[in-house]
Amino acid sequence: MSDWLVELGANPTSRSIVKSLGLPIPLPAALPRDRDAWRTGLLSGRRFLFESQSPLQGTFEALGATRATLGDGGHSDADVIVVDARDLVTIADLVRLHSFFGPRAGGLKAGGRAIVIAKDAASGAPLLVRHALEGFVKSLAKEVGGKGATANLIVDAGGSVEGPAAFFASRKSAFVTGQVIVADTSAEGTWERPLAGKVAVVTGAARGIGEATARTLAREGAHVFCIDRDAEKAPLEALAAAIGGTAMTLDVTSFEAGDKLAAAVSAHGGVDVIVHNAGITRDKTIGRMKRDAWDSVIAVNLEAIVRITDALAPKLRDGGRIIALSSIAGIAGNMGQTNYAATKAAVIGFVKDAQNRFGDRRITANAIAPGFIETQMTAKVPVAIREAGRRLSALAQGGMPEDVAEAITFLAHPKAGSVRGRVLRVCGGSFIGA
Ligand code: NAD
Repeated sequence: MSDWLVELGANPTSRSIVKSLGLPIPLPAALPRDRDAWRTGLLSGRRFLFESQSPLQGTFEALGATRATLGDGGHSDADVIVVDARDLVTIADLVRLHSFFGPRAGGLKAGGRAIVIAKDAASGAPLLVRHALEGFVKSLAKEVGGKGATANLIVDAGGSVEGPAAFFASRKSAFVTGQVIVADTSAEGTWERPLAGKVAVVTGAARGIGEATARTLAREGAHVFCIDRDAEKAPLEALAAAIGGTAMTLDVTSFEAGDKLAAAVSAHGGVDVIVHNAGITRDKTIGRMKRDAWDSVIAVNLEAIVRITDALAPKLRDGGRIIALSSIAGIAGNMGQTNYAATKAAVIGFVKDAQNRFGDRRITANAIAPGFIETQMTAKVPVAIREAGRRLSALAQGGMPEDVAEAITFLAHPKAGSVRGRVLRVCGGSFIGA
């Protein structure tokens, strides 16, 4: 599964042919991506430029990045430009965004990053400023997206921002743009081999986002229990063999699924990362939707998540992670998807509830809301809607399952321990529900 326009654009000959056709849409830029393990050299080869002094400069250097050089007129050779705006408190202070990004945003290349760090505030001008930064970053994302660059905001709500900053600055966040990550507590751990010795469960692992996630978690050292339906036994077993994990054919909606999983992880001492990824669509407008279509979507996308979490809760170790797949359809709603959108919106409530229930043990629960990702699920979407889903976004293209897997793996990283009960969109800056 791939985005045909990105493929055409990647080849110089077809790129010039497509350009000469004068399509009413720009050719999307190829996104440079990092598919290697987290490491201390995560940002090697990246040049960064900060608007003013920030402790994050030390973090970027520790991860291998170097300082950019500043040329005439404020131009620079930076790949990552950052405004640490935690000291912006008045409306007049906002002009610093204009002074810094004005001469530089245009110079960002494919894979370039603009990052703003805000301080959370409860009232007065600082609260207005915090909101202003969100509007600014979301607009900047739309302006730089045509070049395959991203812009994101991190809100310091009294928590560690270095993990989110590293993720946004790296090429692991290629399809994340126009987003906000709030950090509200401390985060510990090292950058390398973040999941060594950890046990993970991924449902719906036979293909698509689930398969990519199982591979990425295993790459970081986790033993992954790969779960999928009986019908997917062959690809599931091949995957588990390839990543040194365990394949288990289970229908997540079956009554005993949770208990079977709990027994299986017990043999490994417990579970650290639960990824609720299995999901289905049964689309029809509400008047034409059969009861069956309603029930099956609720059962897979919602009831199974709740039941499996309850069964695994006693096995979930301190510092664990619960990550559930929502969708931008759950944020914006979608014609023909009342059943699906209800479940994907409920997932946002589920992670907030799970955060309240388990947060005292340094466990985090977060949702990922993918936009248009190239998988079998979206291959079924009618062609006109599919094209709209891809192009109506800052990056003007569909994402890859690995883009979602990298975001899930970031949330599983100890350095993301400061992100709790939130939703992270991996949507290429989709205009839907933004
Ligand atoms: P996919 O259809 O390619 O894969 C889903 C997997 O879940 C399949 O392997 C399937 O066999 C498995 N599954 C379904 N029902 C199951 C059950 N009862 N028990 C066990 N396994 C079951 O889907 P995908 O595109 O990789 O999506 C993964 C998740 O991401 C889903 O929750 C989906 O709603 C969400 N999502 C996807 C997109 C996208 O653009 N692809 C967008 C938003 C959200």
